Amino acid sequence: MSLVIYNTLTRKKQEFIPTNKDEVKMYVCGPTVYNYISVGNARPIIVFNMVRNYLEFLGYKVKFVQNITDIEDKIIKKANEEGVHFSVITERYTKAFLEDLKNLEINNFYFMPKASEMIPDIILVIEKIIQNGFAYVAGGDVYFDVSKFKNYGKLSGQDINEMLSSEEESFSKRNKVDFTLWKSAKPGEPSWDSPWGKGRPGWHIECSAMSIKYLDYGLDIHGGGIDLVFPHHENEIAQSEAAFPEKGDFVRYWMHNGMIEVKEEKMSKSKGLKEEWILRNLLNKYSPNIIKMYILSTHYRSPLEFSIEKLEEAKKAIEKLLNFLRNLIFLIKSVKKDSSTQSNYSNSNSSSSYSSNSNYNSNSNVDILIEDKEFYENLSDDDKKIFLYIKQFKQEFKKSMDDDFNSARAIGELFNFIKKLNTIIQSPDFNINLIKTESLVIVYDILINYTKVFGFNLEKELKLFEISGKKDISKDKIKDIGKDLGKWLDDAEIKELIKQRDLARKQKNFKKADEIRNKLSSYGIILEDRKEGTIWKRELVNQ
Ligand SMILES: [Zn+2]
Repeated sequence: MSLVIYNTLTRKKQEFIPTNKDEVKMYVCGPTVYNYISVGNARPIIVFNMVRNYLEFLGYKVKFVQNITDIEDKIIKKANEEGVHFSVITERYTKAFLEDLKNLEINNFYFMPKASEMIPDIILVIEKIIQNGFAYVAGGDVYFDVSKFKNYGKLSGQDINEMLSSEEESFSKRNKVDFTLWKSAKPGEPSWDSPWGKGRPGWHIECSAMSIKYLDYGLDIHGGGIDLVFPHHENEIAQSEAAFPEKGDFVRYWMHNGMIEVKEEKMSKSKGLKEEWILRNLLNKYSPNIIKMYILSTHYRSPLEFSIEKLEEAKKAIEKLLNFLRNLIFLIKSVKKDSSTQSNYSNSNSSSSYSSNSNYNSNSNVDILIEDKEFYENLSDDDKKIFLYIKQFKQEFKKSMDDDFNSARAIGELFNFIKKLNTIIQSPDFNINLIKTESLVIVYDILINYTKVFGFNLEKELKLFEISGKKDISKDKIKDIGKDLGKWLDDAEIKELIKQRDLARKQKNFKKADEIRNKLSSYGIILEDRKEGTIWKRELVNQ
């Protein structure tokens, strides 16, 4: 099966075939920098990061451009309100936006151009549109003449005749629906020289100019929120195809994410932000993994409810994943190294370091191993089951993601995989020394690498546990995993208490052993006594 994408333009799912076989050109509309970004603005960022990652997972080279709108009416309004130069506003919020991206651990943009740095390119595109007869100059303004572009309305499905017949609202515009490509300067507003006098570009034109400059004409994927379909994306099509009528369609696949809603209300920056919707405030309480889990647990085209309960659910889901991985590490480490059951097969040398290969497909040889009869027949029953579950998970993950990036279903498959593996490793009969540890190392690698498609960085949080005895761990990170700051034990302290408890049990001092267990429990540390020793996990403490 191959990847299918729901295309807003055709209103159906279509097989994904990029213009160039191995390369994908992708453009997503970025934020207007006049305020801190909300979790609503973070949704397209997280969603299209997942889209890019999955395309890379499939082996494509992805050129991903996202813009920053730093010329816009809302910025000028905000500057006037604060009585400062507009660049004070754009610099402050561009810096904040870049910090937010860094804290979300989303980067690797091919280019991230700003509108203010694109003025000469924007002017060139407007000149082409005028030359081709699709725009007119009225005073110092330039308008796109919608009546000349016969495909206007093809993306949003609107009837152009209805729009054209509506009453005119402006003296200089020929039709109400005509939109601004260039605005003449008003006193006190930022402006640049142009063939039409001093002025500034309209909002829509920057995305046409930027995508053409950095990706050449003809995008494979153009993304953004569903609220941008009309007029923004409709206008981007009109501008781009009017500037280059000989080059065909501007975009092959239009992808739009649904909105984040707060009890039926759309989250919008322009209406004023509540403190709890601001991404940087959420990032103080929740790790990037948790915020990504929250966003990607719903299909990207569906509306997504914003609530603290939903974020708490995501936090529990991430904690469940981390606990499972910690158990795996514990089991892998507890194998008797001289055991005769140890196989010579080594997947990735990761059994010593537990660090995974960043290559998504580092486990492709698992399929070959499963097909290898001699290898497979010599496995223990538990190993055979583990390999079977690995194979099933890999298939279901791909099937889900190939179906219009259904991350919600893929995450469901992930927990299904863990559940099935738990039936083996949590069974009282389970003996780690009877299975080939490589199968669990492969499980570990797969969980780490496949979840990178969602933008998760689970190893970072796991390492945080391993080194949390050190004093340089920030208290913020500890807060991330839901700990009450006053009630925190680091790993070294936990291990020491478990050691003392083991000793007490050996000496049959069960009162003391119970006291230690209760103490650990009060810190949210849950113990489980197993044949191999005592394992522990952190439970979230309700604050
Ligand atoms: Zn745009």
